[in-house]
Parts: sequence; structure tokens; C-alpha cells
Amino acid sequence: MKAPLPDKVMPTSPTAPSEDPFQQRALLAAIVDSSDDAIVSKTLEGRILSWNRGATRIFGYEPHEVIGKPITIIVPPELHSEELQILGKLRRGERIDHFDTVRVTKDGRRISISLTVSPIRSADGTVIAASKVARDVSERKLAELRLQQSEEALRLADRRKDEFLALLAHELRNPLAPIRYAVAANKKPGRTPEQRKQAEEIIERQVAHMSRLLDDLLDVSRVTRGTLALKKARTELTAIIGAAIETARPMLDAKNHNLALDLPTQPLQLEADSVRLAQVFSNLLINAAKYTDPGGQIRLRARQEQATVLVSVSDNGMGISAELLPRVFNMFFQSDQALGRAEGGLGVGLSLVKGLVALHGGSIEARSEGPGKGSEFIVRFPAGAPRPESLDADAETECPSADVGIKILVVDDNRDAADTCAMLLEASGHHVQTAYTGRQALELARTFHPHTLLLDIGLPDIDGYKLARQIRGTPWGRSALLIAVTGWGQEEDRLRAVEAGFDQHLVKPISAEMVESVLQSVAQGGTSLAPPPVKL
Ligand code: ADP
Repeated sequence: MKAPLPDKVMPTSPTAPSEDPFQQRALLAAIVDSSDDAIVSKTLEGRILSWNRGATRIFGYEPHEVIGKPITIIVPPELHSEELQILGKLRRGERIDHFDTVRVTKDGRRISISLTVSPIRSADGTVIAASKVARDVSERKLAELRLQQSEEALRLADRRKDEFLALLAHELRNPLAPIRYAVAANKKPGRTPEQRKQAEEIIERQVAHMSRLLDDLLDVSRVTRGTLALKKARTELTAIIGAAIETARPMLDAKNHNLALDLPTQPLQLEADSVRLAQVFSNLLINAAKYTDPGGQIRLRARQEQATVLVSVSDNGMGISAELLPRVFNMFFQSDQALGRAEGGLGVGLSLVKGLVALHGGSIEARSEGPGKGSEFIVRFPAGAPRPESLDADAETECPSADVGIKILVVDDNRDAADTCAMLLEASGHHVQTAYTGRQALELARTFHPHTLLLDIGLPDIDGYKLARQIRGTPWGRSALLIAVTGWGQEEDRLRAVEAGFDQHLVKPISAEMVESVLQSVAQGGTSLAPPPVKL
């Protein structure tokens, strides 16, 4: 803030400055005094001669505290030699222009300043003193530093992205080789049923692995963008844990691990999205299986402590060092040891788990005594209030049973996909018909009156959304269960499906179990458009 000029030196008019030397000197003094910059003069030995208000504002000392004292009072000890060099230059009549350096304030803060020091000469030209103008550039320096840091962060993020893409390509290509071999092997003549079964199991396992990677990737991006919506309902914890174990079972068995369960004897009620919570526990179980040598001990414990439900998954595997422990939930984090493992991964699983747990109002903690000493992941979330008796009773009386065969129409222009899906559903006891175009589907459905329709969205003649609207317009289609089957699992796709009248949205590739689990959930009264079941 500029101080107003003292009345007595105010020029009579801006266009007519006074020529009186006394008034001129007073004007100069006022300019110096009102400057925002620090203006200081010193002897050639470095003793302070004058100190303006700007200097007080920047360095904190009042004039009486510093006049007559060495200028080094504001110079950090390690820069005293710099001051000697400045004095040397001044004695030689040289000027120092916009020199960026650091000074110390009265309260000990270090500030960045830009310095200009000029020699003061007597009438005969002899250098008799020095004047120095210092500008506080701390804010500019800070801004420069922030810019530098954000550039560095961008560069790092860019490098991470490249590394991640390379890892993604590698992880997605990995399962393809065994699938290709298994398919080729099964084409060979003379295969025994046992060999065929083995090859099919390989394909199933690898496809499941690949789908899990892609699902995790899509889900983690939804969690970070805040677009993942939970379908919360009152559920029971052991059922969720059961689903998670089923998903992790192939990995647990493949490595011959022993899974010990310690579950509460009383049912534990929760307000949760059961599909997403199952995803949390299956991810933890799969990690335990992955990061433990074959034949390991894995334990899943669940219990309620007051208003908190605790679920922990522990293993006696490779463990995590204290240094890495705080980073395991970071997106794309993988330890070097983990990278070397055959089971692979993208480093998004735990970050997704943490996000899903947080969406349930819970928290997750990782514990390990160190490398080789196993790991434990503890999930905590709020317990739900017990369900009113009457609601349970209602649900039971109103539910149709999914055990009896249901009339299902499978619609997909990919004939192989439609036929194999129909085959699997028939094997589960349902009455199934297939259509390969939208028109064919409408034609067939007119007489077949399916209870459930599995509609591919990308049909060549009528797209799945239009088809769904037309079906909803028919008397038989009003109450049918419409399931959209697409390759796209984004929230927008799910919303489009709701708008078109679908009850459920499944992401390809779908399996008989996925359809069964939807039918089961319908049988239990849950016809809402839920996120895709994770299990394949
Ligand atoms: P991914 O398993 O794909 O690498 P995650 O996000 O699931 O990614 O896990 C991140 C990292 O945390 C793993 O790479 C591994 O280093 C470590 N980790 C996770 N679970 C365990 C475990 N049970 N034991 C030891 N390390 C683990």
C-alpha cells in the first residue's frame, strides 16, 4: 500500500513540480518511504545506513533495530560469502541487477528476493556507499515450484500410463495362449472325454480370469469417477461370503490351498449391495490365493462387534513389507515380487476393494508382520438393523420359484452365442427357444410367450432397446423379465437399458450361472436392474 505524500511536500500541481531542492529531497524521501520494495543503503563495509518502510514490511525489523548494524543480519550464514562478493563489486563501481537470492527475516523465515544493488557516488564520482532494492518474490518462486512439481507429476503419470498400457496388453494376452491351445487340442481326433473336459476347464478358467480383469478395470474407473451406484438391499453376510468363495474357488483349488472359515452362527444382517460386497471378499480371497505358495493356509473370519461387522481374510503367504503396506491400496500399485508371479494382475484389485468398501460406509486395513509372514486384510462396515419379520414373510409368500423350468427366449445374432446359451439353460431344466434377429424374436414370442427374454443389444434389424420397447407394448411382454446382454458395462449403458424397459443388464460373456443367479434373484423378489454378477 502506498502511503500518501506528506502535505508539506505535496507538489502544487502534478504538471508543475517544485524546483526547490528541499522540497525535491523531501519528495524523493517520500517516494523511497512509500515504496513496496525494500530500499536500503549501506556503507562499503556493509553497515546499514537507511531502512525504508518496505524493508520493515519485508524483513520485520524497525529502522532503529538495524541502522548501524551489519547487513549480514538479514543474510543466511551460508550466504555470507555472497555478500562479500557483492561488496567487492560495489567497491569497483559495478552494479548487481535482479539477482535472485534468499534472505532471513527477523522471525527466522527464509524468503526469496530479487536484488538490485547500485553504487552511490559522491560529487567527484567516488563510490561512497551502496543502495539496494529488494523485492519479495517468494510467491513467484512458490508458483514456479508448484508449476515444476505439477509438470513432474504429469510426466510421472504419463510414464505410469505407458507402463500400465504395456502391462494391460500383457495381462490380456496371457490367457489367450492357453485358450488357443485348448481349442486346438480339442479339435484333434481321438481325444478322450477326460482330455476334452480338461481343455474346457482351462478355457473356462482363463475366460473367467480375463473377464475379472476387465470388470475390475471398468469398475475401478467407475468408482474413481463416482458413477458406480450401489443396489443396496437388506442381505445376509454368509450368503455373500458363499458367493465370494465360489468365485475364488478355482484359484484356491488350483493352488491346493486350505480355506478355513470362521463364521458367526447367527445370521448377520447388512444393508449392502450383495454383488459388490461379494466382489470385495472374492478379490481378497483371490489375492490371498495368488500371493501364497501352493498348499497355503487361508482363513476367512466374520463377526459382529457392537454396531460393526468385521470380515478378515488372512493367509500365510509372501506377506508385505512395512514400507509397502501403506501403498497397497493405491491404484496400479504392485510390488516387484508380485510382478514376477505367474497369476498376473493389473494392480487395481485392492484399490477397487477399498472404493467398494467406502461406498458401503466401511473401511479396510492391511496388516502384515513383514515379508514371508503372511498378510491380513480386515474389512469393517456398519451392521444393518434386523429385518422386520413381516417383510420376510411377505417376500416368501409372493416369490415364484426359480427351480421349476421357465420359458426363456434367447435372442442373439451370433448364432454360436445364442445356441450355446440356450443349451446351457436347457441343461438347467428351462424351456428355451432361440432367435437370431429382432423380427424373428417378435414372431416367436407371439406364440411362445416367454417369461424371460435374453436380448442382445446389437441386433442387425431392430436394436435391442427398440425391441424391448415393442415387447413391453404387448400383453404378454408387460410382465416378462427382460435381460439386456451387451459387451458394454458402463453406467450409461445400464441407464439406457432401464429407460428401454429392461429389468436386468448383463455384460458379455454371460454364463448359465449368471442367468441362474438373475432368475434366483427374481424369484426372491429382486427384479431391479442390478450391476452384472461378477461370477462367471
Ligand atoms: P494385483 O493383485 O493385480 O497386483 P491388487 O490391487 O489386488 O493388484 O494388489 C496390489 C498389490 O498388493 C499386489 O501386487 C501385491 O503386491 C500386494 N498384495 C495384495 N494382496 C496380498 C496378499 N494377500 N499378500 C501379499 N501381498 C498382497
